[in-house]
Amino acid sequence: MNNAIFTFSPPTNEEILQYSKGSNERELIEKELTRMSNDFIEIPLIIGGKEIKTGKTLDISIPHNHKKVIGISHQASEKEINLAIESALASKVLWENISWIERSSIMLRAAELISKKYRFLLNTATMLGQSKNVYQAEIDSACEVIDFLRYNVYFASHIYTDQPKSDFGQLNRLEYRPLEGFVFTVSPFNFTAIASNLNMSPVLMGNTTVWKPAQTSVLSNYYLMKVFEEAGLPPGVINFIPGSGSLIGQAVLNHKDLAGIHFTGSNATFNILWRGVTENLTNYVSYPKIVGETGGKDFIFTHNSANPTEVATAIIRGAFEFQGQKCSAASRAYIPQSLWNEIKNSLLKQTSEIKVGDVTNFSNFMNAVIDENAFDNIMSYIDYAKNSSECEILFGGNGNKTIGYFIEPTIILTNNPKFKTMEEEIFGPVMTIFIYNDEDYEKTLHLCNQTSPYGLTGAIFSNDKYAMIQACRILRYAAGNFYINDKPSGATVGLQPFGGARASGTNDKAGGSLNILRWVSPRTIKETYIPARDFKYPFMTE
Ligand code: NAD
Repeated sequence: MNNAIFTFSPPTNEEILQYSKGSNERELIEKELTRMSNDFIEIPLIIGGKEIKTGKTLDISIPHNHKKVIGISHQASEKEINLAIESALASKVLWENISWIERSSIMLRAAELISKKYRFLLNTATMLGQSKNVYQAEIDSACEVIDFLRYNVYFASHIYTDQPKSDFGQLNRLEYRPLEGFVFTVSPFNFTAIASNLNMSPVLMGNTTVWKPAQTSVLSNYYLMKVFEEAGLPPGVINFIPGSGSLIGQAVLNHKDLAGIHFTGSNATFNILWRGVTENLTNYVSYPKIVGETGGKDFIFTHNSANPTEVATAIIRGAFEFQGQKCSAASRAYIPQSLWNEIKNSLLKQTSEIKVGDVTNFSNFMNAVIDENAFDNIMSYIDYAKNSSECEILFGGNGNKTIGYFIEPTIILTNNPKFKTMEEEIFGPVMTIFIYNDEDYEKTLHLCNQTSPYGLTGAIFSNDKYAMIQACRILRYAAGNFYINDKPSGATVGLQPFGGARASGTNDKAGGSLNILRWVSPRTIKETYIPARDFKYPFMTE
């Protein structure tokens, strides 16, 4: 069974269902939305395959209808955190020693289960728990989860076949060991697919994880965990422990067998984790591998050869889809004076057609932001802009949290290219625009490059090839994912490996083989056929 040599071909990306009125998928998701909205779920911890209820719980409510509680989730205490670490370490012995084909089959089975059996369940949990419209849920909790699982197997098969040269006298091998110890995975609220991949990419390579999900995405994340189990993931390979970030972080970072951290979230949290590792350096068995993808201040830069309607559309989709809560969401734009009127007209016309509201009303393009903290934080930026003499609110600017955490798509026009909302990540539906003189194109490109500490995504709109090449060069380090004539969000697994540097993270490119490589610690094995029997070399002969 284990002597087959496999290399998997690149998979085809999962087809995106459209959910048009009258379609089969529309009927099924509406049914599931009604069912789940009227259901009440109790989410336990899952450690070593056992469901644990600690009795300390938090409510799960719907961001666009926050008085509606659809479940509770149990929270880990120190006892369960230690149990999860012990379980990850104990389970690793068997998990790392089975053939990688067996691990791959679990990934591929999970992908198939999501594609055929649990698509509407996962999408509904993402719609209700994270307030995504049906399309945003489909591209996340169905397509991207599936693509990560399938592509990773393909990447792994190529990594394993990459072997050093041998010759007649020796046999050389690279053994792609998993890391020695356990991997701590910490996931953000905004993508179900990221939560899946943070765990499944190290797990595919033979690692076991202690997973701290974000409380605000615990609903979809719990269902993911159940699908992984049904796909055959053995007990203890992933240990699911919702709970306080600081409590879990502290206990895990202190553990000598921490071998890696796979994180996505804010820059501030990542810095806490990294600092925690450096403080514990002398306690660890190995240097933990730290992989973190963090925030962004993503830009759309426009040359005066661009098409104004295309730029306006990219700004709207880039900035306002999923309420701007994508790390890749466009949140600053640079527009040449000569195109501004046309872009403004298209922008205002299109933005005025955006509807904000409940995910069950399919005509809504935008829904609620994730929770009250996010709402208050985003509104504080908008209020700051309202009170500043350096800008005007061109569109929107209002929020209402009575029923759900709703914020209007908001466009700010500033005359200060270093204005607060041009520099800081807001993580909400707020776009700030700076108009530059056409002749200052090159100068403004340098300004864009130097404005924010982040380096995640960015776009250039230009129909002038030389101007486009100039932007590519000057903005080389401003974005790890750079787009030409497209919005800077919507990276697809296998097609645009994702990640940025500077304050945006370690740029280990989720959705590409570079990420998978971080979860192995290769051992080189040299076997000599005829060992030497005399220590002397020829040059020593008198
Ligand atoms: P966050 O940093 O608030 O939380 C991320 C996770 O860290 C959550 O599970 C949280 O509970 C946990 N956490 C918080 N404090 C912790 C601690 N002291 N120790 C251990 N864990 C702790 O981020 P968020 O609000 O969930 O997500 C939004 C952020 O994520 C934005 O900054 C966004 O840009 C970023 N993000 C980046 C990418 C990327 O690929 N670069 C993708 C998605 C999101």
